[in-house]
Amino acid sequence: MLQGRRCAECDKLSLDAGRPCPFCGSQGGSAVALSGRGRLVSWTVIRVAPGRYAAEAPYTVGLLELPEGLRLTARLEADPEQLSAGQALTFASLDPARGPIFRPA
Ligand SMILES: [Zn+2]
Repeated sequence: MLQGRRCAECDKLSLDAGRPCPFCGSQGGSAVALSGRGRLVSWTVIRVAPGRYAAEAPYTVGLLELPEGLRLTARLEADPEQLSAGQALTFASLDPARGPIFRPA
């Protein structure tokens, strides 16, 4: 499940339930379950990856807009040739090192 956090101070929604609010720095907040749905805004294929991910290249990273009003970047389990802007994506898994992973809905 994909989780966000609702800030106790400014009431804004963000990702990373375990971290301070990126808008106001408050530690207070509560975890909220996100739908796991998203729309593809943009994407890129990483062919020359940073050191620890070098062996995984090429891989695709997308910018997604979630119906909750958040944007995030996530790895995509998809053929980049088959992607299109506005496409529906769904949350696949949360990798501790790589963050959320999405695939076509
Ligand atoms: Zn806040």
